[in-house]
Amino acid sequence: MEELINRLKSGTYTKDDLVSALNIPDEEKFMPLFNLSEQICEEYFGKGVFIRGIIEYSNKCRKNCNYCGIRRGNEKVLRYLIKPEEIYKVAEKLKAQGVMTLVLQGGEDAESDPMLLDVIKQIRTKYEMAITISIGERPFEVYKQFKEAGADRFLLRIETTNPVLFKALHPDDDLEYRKKCLLWLKELGYQVGTGIMTGLPGQTMEMIAGDLLYFKELQPAMLGIGPFLPHEDTPLGNEKPKELFLTLKVLALIRIMLKNVNLPATTAMGTLDKDGRKKAMMYGANVFMPNYTPAPYRESYLLYDNKICVKEDCSNLCAGGIIKSAGKFVAQGRGDYKSF
Ligand code: SF4
Repeated sequence: MEELINRLKSGTYTKDDLVSALNIPDEEKFMPLFNLSEQICEEYFGKGVFIRGIIEYSNKCRKNCNYCGIRRGNEKVLRYLIKPEEIYKVAEKLKAQGVMTLVLQGGEDAESDPMLLDVIKQIRTKYEMAITISIGERPFEVYKQFKEAGADRFLLRIETTNPVLFKALHPDDDLEYRKKCLLWLKELGYQVGTGIMTGLPGQTMEMIAGDLLYFKELQPAMLGIGPFLPHEDTPLGNEKPKELFLTLKVLALIRIMLKNVNLPATTAMGTLDKDGRKKAMMYGANVFMPNYTPAPYRESYLLYDNKICVKEDCSNLCAGGIIKSAGKFVAQGRGDYKSF
């Protein structure tokens, strides 16, 4: 174990080392790596946790990802597109609460791009806040338009870098194109976020180790790691999720490998385990993303079953309580990615 830790610390690890670390069977044995992850997190971010407010502005989607509750094939979903005025109201609220990042997240709904471009321009002009968009795959030119309109960051999760698993999950997508999109986004100057799902049916530790090495090479600004959670109206609806421990191990290894990357304690972690987000912040996460989607829409944006923060008012106050319970505090400012 000591040798493994030394290799991880010095960056001289191999893929086999990552697989060995992912195979550690219990939290107690993994604790030295959790401690190392948190130590590195505090070196770069102190005990501050940045808050990013999310609005799920559209649940329309042209794709049919096999794990996703809002896939186009799910006819039970009531589709919506939030009006710009409602988005501006949320931006006002965020500003009043001192939250300096707005995340606009939607399904792959290219038809709403003109509206979204206008919204981004308005927010850029009126509010001093960072804008993240998470809208899926688009051609290079469209990514460029969003950047020029004022978007600072882009989140595009790859979910897995294993070609066979990627294809099994994404009937409409091509792994190489997804990778190309991530490179385009970097080229355009976005702070790029990506990430994976952990505990997917058919996923092995070797596959996750491969994902980690891909991240090392890509050097993203943010990595969102979420446990796989089934949604009953999808082809994977009968699959069982794995325990949170696997997601926490991946999170800690990423912190050790990539040091200064922004790592959120994700809603999916909090859904899988009521202390999921708290544990994530104790073991290396430095970002928290409360849901600011206006109440009537939240129930129609269920990517998986039993999602938390759907009925509750997920305000800055609620986030602050969870952050405090992890021994941390709400950091001030936009929390932009800094390369050290
Ligand atoms: S994961 Fe994204 S692209 Fe895939 S179906 Fe869900 S919303 Fe659409």
